[in-house]
Amino acid sequence: MEKQELLYEGKAKKVYATQDPELLIVSYKDDATAFNGLKKGTIAGKGAINNRMSNLLMARLEKEGIPTHFVEELNDRETLVKRVSIVPLEVIVRNIAAGSFSKRYGVEEGAVFDRPTFELSYKNDGLGDPLLNDDHAAALGLASREELALIRNYALTINGLLKKIWADCGVTLVDFKLEFGRLGDGTIVLADEISPDTCRLWDAATHEKLDKDRFRRDLGGVEEAYVRVMERLTNSL
Ligand code: UDP
Repeated sequence: MEKQELLYEGKAKKVYATQDPELLIVSYKDDATAFNGLKKGTIAGKGAINNRMSNLLMARLEKEGIPTHFVEELNDRETLVKRVSIVPLEVIVRNIAAGSFSKRYGVEEGAVFDRPTFELSYKNDGLGDPLLNDDHAAALGLASREELALIRNYALTINGLLKKIWADCGVTLVDFKLEFGRLGDGTIVLADEISPDTCRLWDAATHEKLDKDRFRRDLGGVEEAYVRVMERLTNSL
């Protein structure tokens, strides 16, 4: 499968058309942004790590019955995926308080929840991705009630599966963001990526951050953290 015209360039990925109208090629970049694009930088080697990690995890989720857009890894940075139209929602599942949850509700980072929390934001950079609930999402016509229920179910099932995968390599899954898309026939599938850009991953023993918070918060050792967390995953498979 060959890359054809560039369809879209986002903050961390480029998306190309292919000869097949139902398939696209995603190319992962080393570029990183945070705080709605206010902070910009590069994380050397990130593109290749996120590409491989996301593919490994999506393949595992597929095996467990979660439909995803993943088709085939083409090389270090590029992957063949099914064409979807993205549901404009950021679907966030949290196991431990951190980031915007801690800030918004005044809870210290690290507080462990009795059960996971499910949260939606409107994926809209111009509005700063505002938090919304199912009623808001339905009123805005972003997804149907049935789709919202399915997305919630998938997200919580994915949380259970990912928590186990990461726990098996000594990493705590704190929270993560998912995006879903619709295939041509309307089927909802998991899309976008699952990587240290989109998950908070803490060393289970030391609580050291092994994710994009190292970049967001200028903690140093950003590249090393991505390499180490990827090694943990590959060594445990
Ligand atoms: N997240 C993401 N993209 C976003 C916002 C959040 O991938 O635009 C991920 C983030 O990496 C974290 C989780 O979603 O794993 C929850 O993020 P939070 O709402 O705490 O926002 P943040 O503190 O990252 O602004």
